[in-house]
Amino acid sequence: MPSQLPVKVADLWNNEKERDNLKLNSQFEEEAVQKILQIPLMQDTSSDKLCWRFTKNGECNSKSAYREFYKRDNQNLQQVDSQTLALIKATWKDKNIPPKVKVFAWRFLREALPSSLTLNQRISDIPAACCRCGTPESDLHLFFLCPFSRLTWMISGYHFDIDRFQASSRLSLIIAFTVNNGPSRINLSNLFIIMWQLWKARNGFKFQGTFKEPSQVSYLADALISSFSQISSQFALQDNEQSEAGTRRMDTIPNGIRCYLDAAWDNGQTGIGIFFFHNPQNHNAMFIQACSNKAHSALQAELLALQLSLETDMCLNFSGVTYLSDNTTIADTAKKKNFMDDPGHWSLRPFWTQITSSVPIDRI
Ligand SMILES: [Zn+2]
Repeated sequence: MPSQLPVKVADLWNNEKERDNLKLNSQFEEEAVQKILQIPLMQDTSSDKLCWRFTKNGECNSKSAYREFYKRDNQNLQQVDSQTLALIKATWKDKNIPPKVKVFAWRFLREALPSSLTLNQRISDIPAACCRCGTPESDLHLFFLCPFSRLTWMISGYHFDIDRFQASSRLSLIIAFTVNNGPSRINLSNLFIIMWQLWKARNGFKFQGTFKEPSQVSYLADALISSFSQISSQFALQDNEQSEAGTRRMDTIPNGIRCYLDAAWDNGQTGIGIFFFHNPQNHNAMFIQACSNKAHSALQAELLALQLSLETDMCLNFSGVTYLSDNTTIADTAKKKNFMDDPGHWSLRPFWTQITSSVPIDRI
């Protein structure tokens, strides 16, 4: 019964101010009883007093409280694994990372960003869902696995196999692996600047309802990467300039389904076409990866990616698709539509022949 539980040490005494073994044994397990019996009794009539054990006189003061919290914080810092610590140090030292991005990177590496899943784990009323796709928004999802983020990385020209990581992978492991082993050799400053722009775009969408295209996020990151390395002293002015530039660039892309396509080519062996349809109205997205051994150059691989996207578009009966490629040779040829006389490059001619035989020219 709760009313029988002792409230004070004196409740466990008998009338002779000695411990009442009967009470002790009825309230506690044997082990606890033995520990209680080891505590010396004070034969004293003064009343009980709550003591702060970090000062000599038992009084709590702000100086000693601060010292204790500081000690605990330092212990927590020491608990950070060596890989995370090394990354934090490398980030602080990197002269190509703007200070505000450094602070963001530090919060990310310490797993202290308020992503939806993190907040939900502390306050269950806060929804855990990603504001773009509805999947629980962990840091890994927000920055890498969300279709919006995948597309941003792809447009930025960085292909890394993020699916190799488990959901439980340490963030520092992912960053270190990506920087050291990523096929595109992305460096720490570019990686964190793109992630920072993804974070800003996510917050703008979630809290202000402003939607940025993945290509705008990529472009803003590019602008910051190049401008910060050139004029690091003026980085504070760049946000406004970037926003204007990003809007200008996107003005020319019509509404409707967009197909972003890209390809990687490795030493004549394999052409990989990756492309994506994205409808900004309802955020539907489709991500396709394919391999081919038909390409003998990076340029041919790019055209294979276009061919695959055109054929998929026909199969799925999409209409009014805008194709976005970072390859100007292919983009210019597609615009001119004079594929046989002006294929952009002689080696593309057989590929254009194949495309025009299977896809109506007005779809290209
Ligand atoms: Zn998502």
